[in-house]
Amino acid sequence: MFKKKLEFSFIILVVIALLYLSNNIYSSHQFKNNDIPASYLKRIKDKETDVLNLMQNNYGFKLNIPIIVTDKFKGKLYGLTSYRDGKIKIYLNKKVMQESMDYIVNSVIAHEYAHALMFKLGYLDRKNSGHSNEWRKACIKLGAQDCQQYVNLQEVILSKMPF
Ligand SMILES: [Zn+2]
Repeated sequence: MFKKKLEFSFIILVVIALLYLSNNIYSSHQFKNNDIPASYLKRIKDKETDVLNLMQNNYGFKLNIPIIVTDKFKGKLYGLTSYRDGKIKIYLNKKVMQESMDYIVNSVIAHEYAHALMFKLGYLDRKNSGHSNEWRKACIKLGAQDCQQYVNLQEVILSKMPF
């Protein structure tokens, strides 16, 4: 009787472990091949609203910039801002999103919006990948937790996209 019970719990445990494992594999597989989870999209959207409200308060206007989540980034870049033909776009790296979502929400979105704002205000400075003092002030005003310059990263693109 005792032995049977033990066997039974073992089977239950194995089944639970297998379920857990396959669920894990499934979610990371799903993350790579489909759109990002709705919860992530909501966090990005909510943050964008916060940043735009801060922009309204500090600069008196809001920019309507598309945020595009893409897996076409090469390397570990969190995001980049492009400016072409007068159009500004923000790209976020889907590949690092799962491991760095907090950082992306707390710092990267406002960081990229500060670049967008610089473009809009006519600061087209390529030096330092666009991380000027003006940019830094904007980054702080738009509420980013981290407004340090990213080292050795070309994440401001003035013409052609790198992907
Ligand atoms: Zn930057």
